[in-house]
Amino acid sequence: MLHEIPPRSGAAFTLDKGQRLTVIDPQGEQVSDLLAFARHDIDEVISSGRTLDYLSRIFLTVPDPLYSNRSNIMLRIVTDTVGRHDFLLTPCSKDTFRIIYGDTEPHQGCFGNLAEALAPFGIVPDRIPVAFNLFMNVPVDGTTGELKVLPPLSKAGDHIVLEAEMDLIIGLTACSALQSNNGSFKPIHYRID
Ligand SMILES: [Zn+2]
Repeated sequence: MLHEIPPRSGAAFTLDKGQRLTVIDPQGEQVSDLLAFARHDIDEVISSGRTLDYLSRIFLTVPDPLYSNRSNIMLRIVTDTVGRHDFLLTPCSKDTFRIIYGDTEPHQGCFGNLAEALAPFGIVPDRIPVAFNLFMNVPVDGTTGELKVLPPLSKAGDHIVLEAEMDLIIGLTACSALQSNNGSFKPIHYRID
């Protein structure tokens, strides 16, 4: 069954060990923030720091694992038609839009959407870490370290498949930041197999 996350919104759901989550960019150039929490103990959470450290790389693709803060593998990338995702930046938020865009009445962003979707699972906003930002294109200047948020490389129908290596709670968005999505807000589709 295909689920749709409408533009600028989010969802949360469970994913059992061995199940595969397919996240599809149906129109192209749309980012989706992904969070994972261990279902048996929500203090165990996806960790950018540990994953990038153990892989010694910032751009992840097949067959890379995504580690938790306790160094257990939560998910593994098993299919990836894009090959460019970001694991450096936090979910966009009211503060992102206030600080970077100068918005006076900012949207709650991926952060607010994730907090809302994850609340029924007992996950509070302060527990939200750096997300694995699917399709987000953030190249890094190797000398200065400068980050650029460029349009995603994903085209309509591109997708990534992640297999769960433990029972998880997943948070997933259709990102709300203009810059990350080449200036327009589009839906995200996902499927669990
Ligand atoms: Zn976002």
